[in-house]
Amino acid sequence: MTDAPLPPGSMIGILGGGQLGRMLSVAASRLGLKSHVFNDTPDAPAFQVAARTSVGDYDDLDAVARFAEQVDVVTCEFENVPAATLEAAGAAAPVFPPVKSFEIAQDRLNEKDFVSGLGIPVAPYANIETLADLKESILRIPPPALLKTRRFGYDGKGQTRILTLCSAESAWEAIGEAPAILEGMVTFEREISVVTVRGRDGTVRFYDVVENVHKDGILDTSQVPANVTTALGAEARAIAGKIAGALGHVGVVTVEMFQTGGAEPALAVNEIAPRVHNSGHWTLDACLISQFENHIRAICGWELGDVSRHSDAVMTNLIGSDVEDWRKYAAEPGTAVHLYGKAEARPGRKMGHINRVSPKT
Ligand code: AMP
Repeated sequence: MTDAPLPPGSMIGILGGGQLGRMLSVAASRLGLKSHVFNDTPDAPAFQVAARTSVGDYDDLDAVARFAEQVDVVTCEFENVPAATLEAAGAAAPVFPPVKSFEIAQDRLNEKDFVSGLGIPVAPYANIETLADLKESILRIPPPALLKTRRFGYDGKGQTRILTLCSAESAWEAIGEAPAILEGMVTFEREISVVTVRGRDGTVRFYDVVENVHKDGILDTSQVPANVTTALGAEARAIAGKIAGALGHVGVVTVEMFQTGGAEPALAVNEIAPRVHNSGHWTLDACLISQFENHIRAICGWELGDVSRHSDAVMTNLIGSDVEDWRKYAAEPGTAVHLYGKAEARPGRKMGHINRVSPKT
């Protein structure tokens, strides 16, 4: 591959057709780029806005290869892409972010080992392969604690709380006796994230630190500016930059962190998402260049766009039936409505979001 940027008119391959794929596709189109979205079901939100679509199983490597042969670069909207899928795509087209970012972020144990190996604090954790491991580790990491499956967990799924020493067996059953980590519960002041973009040439830019509130394990609101000191914001960016660099990441990577420590604030990394992220949706309306466009710019080898924030913003997710109030939000001054084109508003399903924007304070 040459280092020349992909020119307007190029075709971006996106594995995954959810709302993130949809917003990536729209961002690509603003730059005169086209997108070809691959999804395992035909009702994908991103199919409604993409130039080309393919339906296939992510494990159908022939289908993945055919898709990749038709595009100039491949990217992903979710982290749980099987390694063989990335390899099959990579044989036909460059794939960004790199495989390493997925290997680390797909597996909570790899992720914790990687982050702590960089000297960055994380919650206390232990590798759990058997019930015996759990019973032993729970003495070192006492309740309250969380048992999280190593793979395929998101939005609070694949995890259970352990509140007493004697609930080890029920917790092990609750997560399906799958390989897991035991994680000490962190008492945090707030949750923050740093949406970071790294270009093919190693340039790194950070969006402003975001403050996130979760409800039932799902992101509810993201607010900028976050209520953190300048020093803590700088530390959060330094952590995110260290992670992005060590991964050799290309594209957007989001690092979620806990602020602990009361009067003497400190940070611990919770999770790395090697992709555009729900806590960066405010960038659509409070920045000149959104996280989606910057991801597309990065994977295409373009100059990264301006990440500065021109407004304050609060992003609120529209989950399940919340979306029924779309007319109320559409009429609200200073509010941008983003709907994902999903037909059925099931409980817990992300149907859209709103960005309430106000002059920068
Ligand atoms: P996760 O899927 O690991 O991102 O967890 C989803 C949410 O659960 C986080 O954003 C936190 O609100 C909460 N959570 C996860 N891990 C911990 C922890 N070790 N201590 C306290 N809260 C946690």
